[in-house]
Amino acid sequence: MKECEYRQIPPGTPAAPPSLEPPPPATSCDTAAAAAAAATGAAATTTPTQRPRRKWEVFPGRNRFYCGGRLMLARHSGVFLLTLGLIVVTSGLFFAFDCPFLAHNLTLAIPVIAGILFFFVISCLLQTSFRDPGILPRASPSEAADLEKWIDNLGTSTYRPPARTMEVVINKYMVKLKYCYTCKMFRPPRTSHCSVCDNCVERFDHHCPWVGNCVGKRNYRYFYAFILSLSFLTAFIFACVITHLALRSQGSDFLTALKATPASVLELVVCFFSVWSIFGLSGFHTYLVASNLTTNEDLKGAWSNKRGSEFANPYSHKSILTNCCAVLCGPFYPSLIDRRGFIQADAGSPSTPKSEIPSFGTKSDASMCVRGTKELLRTLCASWQNPRQPQESLSNI
Ligand SMILES: [Zn+2]
Ligand SMILES: [Zn+2]
Repeated sequence: MKECEYRQIPPGTPAAPPSLEPPPPATSCDTAAAAAAAATGAAATTTPTQRPRRKWEVFPGRNRFYCGGRLMLARHSGVFLLTLGLIVVTSGLFFAFDCPFLAHNLTLAIPVIAGILFFFVISCLLQTSFRDPGILPRASPSEAADLEKWIDNLGTSTYRPPARTMEVVINKYMVKLKYCYTCKMFRPPRTSHCSVCDNCVERFDHHCPWVGNCVGKRNYRYFYAFILSLSFLTAFIFACVITHLALRSQGSDFLTALKATPASVLELVVCFFSVWSIFGLSGFHTYLVASNLTTNEDLKGAWSNKRGSEFANPYSHKSILTNCCAVLCGPFYPSLIDRRGFIQADAGSPSTPKSEIPSFGTKSDASMCVRGTKELLRTLCASWQNPRQPQESLSNI
């Protein structure tokens, strides 16, 4: 949730050391092999004796990767395991101790509905937790140096260092893009740097320790489906356990019924204390979805009291239904970090000439980017010029 800290770099400051960039292990190959590859014009690859390394192994953010880079999670995932454990144990106790009684005395629909809800909740949770939330790849050292030069050139006419911000017009509203000193790039609209995961995440909502991941552009719909379905599951189990205890206490008193099913008491306590916060969270995110806002923007009050209510939120489609469709039913965006790709030596190409969006240098094969950062940011910024069709062009990447 917290943004990374900013500091001004005076003009003329040399580009940041490339230590923040993942070390390019392929360049550590012996010089002879690299020279031979350069002579043939081909990109240098790892030597046969060295195991080819994938890019997730040198990923600069604070994430953990599983299954060869297919799954990713935040580094501290203890609370995520607690969430998973609470859902599985509470539902397991319900299926084991309440469902047989309720199915026998009421209807078989109860365990069926609970089973469908349980699998939906777990699948949404896993999709939220193990997905790339929309991480933007960091600039390579050459791209960062190119951008530093461009920023320095802006400040040659004054003594003050140039402001590290860019402005883009979105729905007739000027939006400032801030420079990220960790990722060495201007953040596209609605992007924020997660201080826990140390990554810039597109349409950053918040970092959720309960799901063990950032919530952003690529997993927000799963997160929303997770909390909404968890509300239904918790309320359903709570109501069914109350019914179970009420039916059992018909022939005797309530305390005897409680003693007969101690597992139900545990489920009742867990559901009672969690249902309020889950309902509150679902309601809050329903409001955010209907307004096309993020938690980050709402907590910061990014669009409140600015130029009247009609320009309150430049990303809003001014209709609850359209906002809901845009947030929950929009296109599936591909991941921009090439986690499974193999690390290769730098294959430089000449920088492109100046344009409206600053040049971000050449693409390094050792970078995590699927495409060059320069090209990527240009597409992102250009796509935001028309907020009615947000970033459609990216779906073709
Ligand atoms: Zn960043
Ligand atoms: Zn995070």
